[in-house]
Amino acid sequence: MFQPITARLTKRTDLTYDVSQFHFKCINPLELDFSAGQYMLIHVPLTHGHIRRKHYSIVSSEKEKEIFELLVQLFKGGVGSEYLRKLKIGDEVSMQGAAGVFTYKNSPRDKVFIATGTGIAPIKSILTTVLNPKKQDTRNIQIQNSQFNVQNSKFYLFWGLKTAKDVYFLDDFKRLAKENPNFTFQIFLSRQQRLKEDEVFRSGRVAAGLKELIQNSEFSVQNSDFYIAGYRDTVEALRQWVIAHGAKPERITFEKFV
Ligand SMILES: Cc1cc2nc3c(=O)[nH]c(=O)nc-3n(C[C@H](O)[C@H](O)[C@H](O)COP(=O)(O)OP(=O)(O)OC[C@H]3O[C@@H](n4cnc5c(N)ncnc54)[C@H](O)[C@@H]3O)c2cc1C
Repeated sequence: MFQPITARLTKRTDLTYDVSQFHFKCINPLELDFSAGQYMLIHVPLTHGHIRRKHYSIVSSEKEKEIFELLVQLFKGGVGSEYLRKLKIGDEVSMQGAAGVFTYKNSPRDKVFIATGTGIAPIKSILTTVLNPKKQDTRNIQIQNSQFNVQNSKFYLFWGLKTAKDVYFLDDFKRLAKENPNFTFQIFLSRQQRLKEDEVFRSGRVAAGLKELIQNSEFSVQNSDFYIAGYRDTVEALRQWVIAHGAKPERITFEKFV
């Protein structure tokens, strides 16, 4: 489970003023065995040979094993943040993983994904793994669809961010929605009153979108699976909220970033 791995940083994409995507290639071993939604433990070197382990969820699809990507909010003065910020392309990084139980559970039920901030990382990994089959390979579509059993479920994503400046992955999710008619998403901006003319944006918090969904007569809260990821207190508040509105606790999978 906590397999040691050395990976090389091949690219860094700055998505916003404080969120970056780090692209890695596996060096030893040559492939990373992981399930979508799991995290890695990055070894941050300290003085006297000590290390500090920092958790980061894999954002890339489980379909790729030789390369993988992490999505990181970089905090000023943060142990993990400063280490990653200073990495140069070509640097080798020691890690362990993959680990964690925030993974996709096959079921015929509808699925509701709720992310705040970089909590989108494990959720994007799951969505791009289970949806979006490679169109050019019909055999592959059959294998994937039967493996993940997605045809009869609806997939809803509610993602909370602060302002328009914090938004990234918009085109990726739009493409995913275009290719998968059973997937819809909305982005909630808690500190933005005036929105771009785009139907995916809403002002306020994700709970407003959840409330609308629950009131929709075609949706059954008791008969749906929930996946919630993001910073600890928000995840716990949202978990309690969906339980109070009828979700079954055993059908809620959650990841708390601490
Ligand atoms: C299972 C798991 C998965 C995770 N996956 C991800 C992921 O995919 N992407 C990701 O970005 N993070 C993820 N995290 C959180 C991540 O591990 C770090 O805790 C976080 O990035 C801060 O680490 P740091 O070492 O940079 O800061 P620390 O050294 O831990 O903190 C130093 C300072 O940074 C600031 N800071 C730290 N956290 C916060 C915060 N939440 N809000 C405001 N200020 C803060 C504060 O000023 C704090 O004093 C995950 C955590 C867990 C447990």
